[in-house]
Amino acid sequence: MTQRDPRTIAAANGIASDENFGAVTPPIYLSSTFAFSGFEKHRGYEYSRTANPGRDLLADTLARLEGGADAIVTSSGMAAVDLVLSLARRDELIVAPHDCYGGTYRLLSARRDRGHFDVVFVDQSDAASLASALARKPSLVLVETPSNPLMRVVDIRAIARQAKEAGAKVAVDNTFLSPALQRPIELGADFVIHSTTKYLNGHSDVVGGAVVCAAGTDVEALRFWANVTGVTGSPFDAYLTLRGLRTLFPRIERQQANAAAVAAFLSTHPAVAAVHYPGLESHPGHAIARRQQSGFGAMLSFDLAGGAEAVRRFVERVETFTLAESLGGVESLVAHPATMTHAGMGAEARKAAGIGDGLLRLSVGLEAEADLIAGLEVGLAAIEDRRL
Ligand SMILES: *Cc1c(COP(=O)(O)O)cnc(C)c1O
Repeated sequence: MTQRDPRTIAAANGIASDENFGAVTPPIYLSSTFAFSGFEKHRGYEYSRTANPGRDLLADTLARLEGGADAIVTSSGMAAVDLVLSLARRDELIVAPHDCYGGTYRLLSARRDRGHFDVVFVDQSDAASLASALARKPSLVLVETPSNPLMRVVDIRAIARQAKEAGAKVAVDNTFLSPALQRPIELGADFVIHSTTKYLNGHSDVVGGAVVCAAGTDVEALRFWANVTGVTGSPFDAYLTLRGLRTLFPRIERQQANAAAVAAFLSTHPAVAAVHYPGLESHPGHAIARRQQSGFGAMLSFDLAGGAEAVRRFVERVETFTLAESLGGVESLVAHPATMTHAGMGAEARKAAGIGDGLLRLSVGLEAEADLIAGLEVGLAAIEDRRL
């Protein structure tokens, strides 16, 4: 049995592989250092910054799920993005999406300002902008789809093909969907980046990241840098993340069913001006999403017709959803991009990106569908309530 189903890999990779005591759940090795068996002889592990058995098992599981050669597990999603950027030299150009994750935007601009490399941010759904950026012969093209918070979808296969022709490597941030719903390496990506903080761990109790590499040579290069800079994740975080990953498929399937119900409900509500969910046929990225994803995911956003005042009334009353940043956990969260996740962008840039003051983002969890809808109804009713 060499090619196992991804569901089996998630649930069972490394199960019952302990040769000492037959532990069914792979043990956690918190030790920072490992005893040599003799002079110049070690047993495969020396020091946990460099390598750790539990972290390696998580990396192996992620690599199998994404269809890559291997993975490097990092201390955060940002450390994973930065690890890929470590390959870029001073005279090289990186092409990134204009609507990428705020932390990625900040990291790219900060490194560019220090002269580490050059960056150009483009709307990758616009063929002309993408072509003119690629004509500058970048070494790396970063892709993020669906995007945050407007859930815009771009064609990974088409972008990867053009990037390859221009001589660039392609890295896809797959945080919003996870390998359960999208496998970028099959579509031509060289690297898949994850904030494992989100769906992979899925329980909002770990900050972590990973880079899966399609090629073994890239694994070696990134493993070298991860050890040099010390961005590898902790053994305990790796243990929790693998524990969360065991239930990735059932979680995300149930969560996306809930998200579809929430999107349908919001689409018919008079206080809602627009719903951004790739699963809706009206969504501009629906056709691409249907082709390159195996599900539409559990993230969505929507615009309240009443703007900032409506948002204030809604978030103060909404039930079932907690007002907080982050996403991908079993609990439902609501975030207001303009004052929370995207506050640092500035009003001008937010306006240009289509992020209005009435926009709210939802990470839909595992609660009962009826409670999710009822919770939203309470928030929406507060918008019109004259007594408030
Ligand atoms: C959260 C997130 C990151 C950053 O990950 P951290 O674990 O918070 O460092 C990167 N990309 C995307 C798409 C994210 O949602």
